[in-house]
Amino acid sequence: MKNLSPLQVINHPLFTRHQVKVSIKRDDQIHPIISGNKWRKLHYNLKFAKEKQYQGIISFGGCYSNHLHALAYACQQQQLEALAIVRGESDNQNNYTLSWAKHWGMHLSFVDRQTYRKRQDLTFLNELQQQYPRHLIIPEGGSNQLALSGVGEVINELNQQCTYDSLLVPVGSGGTLAGLVKQDNNEHNIIGIAVLKQSDYLTEEVKRLLNNDSKLQRWTIENDYHGGGYAKFTPESANQILQFSTITGIPFEPIYSGKMLLGFFDLLEKGYFAANQHIVLLHTGGLQGIAGLAEQGRLNVNEWPLPPAPPVS
Ligand SMILES: *Cc1c(COP(=O)(O)O)cnc(C)c1O
Repeated sequence: MKNLSPLQVINHPLFTRHQVKVSIKRDDQIHPIISGNKWRKLHYNLKFAKEKQYQGIISFGGCYSNHLHALAYACQQQQLEALAIVRGESDNQNNYTLSWAKHWGMHLSFVDRQTYRKRQDLTFLNELQQQYPRHLIIPEGGSNQLALSGVGEVINELNQQCTYDSLLVPVGSGGTLAGLVKQDNNEHNIIGIAVLKQSDYLTEEVKRLLNNDSKLQRWTIENDYHGGGYAKFTPESANQILQFSTITGIPFEPIYSGKMLLGFFDLLEKGYFAANQHIVLLHTGGLQGIAGLAEQGRLNVNEWPLPPAPPVS
């Protein structure tokens, strides 16, 4: 797997006005179909599975999951079986995300919310492991210790590409932020923008992933930019994101990278960043999610950049 993404300097009147330099680390460009942080998080998990001669991988996600989409492709590439435990009804199996997943050979097992809630329950996981003794079980979103190492490579690449002061990243499960913080080792300010409510829980989760290493101090999670909750957004915020895409020519989606952008704009307006800072925004990819939102009628298909359609099966 190739893991090198470009760093792009962005010119925008807002940034000039606040006298900051802004660059975007284009992890959305890691691969034409599969992108972003899920790809980074899977890298060492798949390597581990191959080295230990596992037969396949089992993981968890919702019907529109970026993680399952990336996992399906990565497993196909590595000739590993992929089994997904999917929250929701099997009616969803022909949606954009899951059509691609099936195209790459992923097996889908649909479960109700109650069963899905057991995904971190040790008894449940032990039973699953006994049922599939030769499969590696990866948590939802791929956030485990091996994922942290893969994400840490973003920091190594950035250190080769530029000098910078602050790094912004959207936060879902916290694995990406934890991986960046660990590898950065207090060299930069790392700011997570929570894309869901309950972000006190997220801070604890990031600490847990960092093994409660209290030496790692230069990070924070901003909680005011979830826009109403996970995957929720108003037409106004969707438009703001789209406008920025039009000006910069860079595609964003409104669930993760778009919320990071809106949070960043607000922090800038509030004077959060000193003049002359170089701020890097990590574009975590996830553009396949646009298709699912379009299918649900939540985005205008004529305005948003639709990712490649799955082959007709
Ligand atoms: C999953 C995801 C995130 C959040 O990453 P976590 O490691 O779960 O915090 C951010 N951006 C995109 C596009 C994602 O798919």
